[in-house]
Amino acid sequence: MTIGVVGSGQLGAMMALAGYPLGLDFLFLDRTSHTPAGRFAPVLTGEFTDRALLRELAARSDVISFDWENIAVDALRAATRGTRTRISPPLRALAAAQDRMAEKRTFERLGIATTRYAAVDSPGRLQQAIRRIGTPGVLKTRRLGYDGKGQVIVRTPADAAAAFAALAAVPLIYENLVPFDYEVSVIGARGRDGEVVIYPLNRNYHAGGILRLTVAPWPAPQLHRAASASLRRVLDAFGYVGVLAIEFFVQGRRLIANEMAPRVHNSGHWTIEGALTSQFENHVRAISGLPLGSPAARGHTAMINLIGEMPDRRGLLVESGLHLHDYGKEPRPGRKLGHCTLVESSASRRDSRARKLLRRLCPQLDIKP
Ligand code: AMP
Repeated sequence: MTIGVVGSGQLGAMMALAGYPLGLDFLFLDRTSHTPAGRFAPVLTGEFTDRALLRELAARSDVISFDWENIAVDALRAATRGTRTRISPPLRALAAAQDRMAEKRTFERLGIATTRYAAVDSPGRLQQAIRRIGTPGVLKTRRLGYDGKGQVIVRTPADAAAAFAALAAVPLIYENLVPFDYEVSVIGARGRDGEVVIYPLNRNYHAGGILRLTVAPWPAPQLHRAASASLRRVLDAFGYVGVLAIEFFVQGRRLIANEMAPRVHNSGHWTIEGALTSQFENHVRAISGLPLGSPAARGHTAMINLIGEMPDRRGLLVESGLHLHDYGKEPRPGRKLGHCTLVESSASRRDSRARKLLRRLCPQLDIKP
C-alpha cells in the first residue's frame, strides 16, 4: 500500500519512518526534493496546486494525506475525483483548520469553549471588534499563520490602526488575549471504523510563539478528561480518520481552545520514544485502515525543539538516554531543525534534566518545567 503525502517536511519524514516497518510505501509531493522526507522517499516536485501532479500523486497512491495545512483543498479534491484514492484526514476538517474563523465556529458549534472573536476586514471593523471584545487582544491573519507569525497584540484601542496596517490587506480575526496559566494540547487518532485512541495530555512551553518544550504526561486528570471529550467531539463530527491535535489555554480548571491541527503535531513528537505507539504510527495505521496502537506513556518524557541552529551532535548524544532527531534542514533563525527527547522514570528527574539541557541549549530563554 502506498501513502501519498502532500508536503515533505519533518512531519512527513516521521510518518514514513513509522510506516516503513509496517510494510507501507510513501510518495511525497513538494516544491523541491531537498526536504526532510526527500532524504529517504521519492518526491514528485512542483507546485502544490499543480493539478497534473496532484492527479499523478492520486494515481500512484492508495490514500493521500498531508503534513502541512496550507494546501489547496479544491485542487486536492479535484485530483481524486473519479479515482479510488481516499483522502485522510477529511478535507472538511482541513478546510476548517485553514481559516481561524471556521475553526472558532467549529469549536462553538461543538460546545467547546474558545476565545471571543470577530472577523475584521477594515479599520472600522477592528474598532467595532475592540468595542465588543475589549483590549488587550490579538489581531491575526485568518489564514497561513503559524508559530505566532501573522499576529499583532493590541494593548489599547490606540494600537488598532498600526496593528491593522502591519498585517497587509488580508482577512483578519480579532481575539481577546487570554490571561492563561499555561498551555496544553491533546492528540488522538480515529480509525476508519471509528475507533479512537487519545494520548496523555501535553504541557507546552512556547517562546516567541514557537513551541520549545513539551512534557508529558501532564498530570491533570480533570483537564485531560475535558480535553479528550473535546477532541472526541471534533473527531466524530468530521467522521475523522487520522491524527488530530487541539491546543488549549488553561485558566484554573478551565480549558479554552486556541486552535486545532488536522495532522500529526509537534507537541506529539515525544510519543516516538515516550509512548507505546507513536502519533506517526497511529496516523499511518488509521489512514491505511489498520487497527490503532496503544497511546499509553512509557515513562515521563520531555521533548525539546532545536531551533535556528543545530547544537553540537556529540554534546547532545553524551546525555544518557537522549534521542536526537536531526531533520537535515538548512539553519535559519526561528526554523525548527530537529528535536531531542528524554524519557525518564519520574517526572522530577525528567524536569531537572530538561531544565539543565534547556539552560545549555538556549540560556537566553527562561523556560522552566
Ligand atoms: P497560534 O498561532 O494561534 O497558535 O498562537 C501562537 C501562540 O501565541 C500561542 O501558543 C499562545 O502562546 C499565543 N496566543 C495566540 N493567541 C492568543 C490569545 N488569544 N490569547 C493569549 N495568547 C495567545
